[in-house]
Amino acid sequence: YTGKSGNQMLAEKVKNITVNEYQSRPVVVQESASVYDAICTMFLEDVGTLFVVDKHITLVGVLSRKDLLRASLGKQALESIPVSIIMTRMPNITVCKQDDLIIEVANKLIEKQIDGLPIVVEVEYGSRFEVVGRITKTNITALLVDLANDEVI
Ligand code: ADP
Repeated sequence: YTGKSGNQMLAEKVKNITVNEYQSRPVVVQESASVYDAICTMFLEDVGTLFVVDKHITLVGVLSRKDLLRASLGKQALESIPVSIIMTRMPNITVCKQDDLIIEVANKLIEKQIDGLPIVVEVEYGSRFEVVGRITKTNITALLVDLANDEVI
């Protein structure tokens, strides 16, 4: 008998789960893409957050649903507005790595009041990040369901 309560065991379980166990694939657009293209991609790919990359697939920005809605309120033609002028850009992007704890991601989502994070690999000592995945509130909800069904090892 370990002497640990059910709650302690659950907490320990949760604190060992890493990002790579509950990730989704990233959906990206090029920084040269228009707001119109980004809206089409968001619908076609059925995601709420797009990551913007340059031609070397380096992460340069994030686009949320509301970023695109806000841009749509203006008078300008959406085909003529590049996403690079409306996106949230580096270095102001909260990122995570494959081996980060999911509970750290959950804390960041709450603290920053955002829906998801890009999962990145660092290239060239922190000066450049490549996007390899996406983790959102939906993934964390899936974890909650697995925990309730006692399906987490
Ligand atoms: P929405 O704006 O549709 O409610 P979010 O809450 O995710 O969606 O986004 C809020 C704002 O935060 C947007 O301007 C978006 O560009 C930005 N944002 C989203 N994800 C991140 C992130 N990982 N790092 C920094 N900013 C982000």
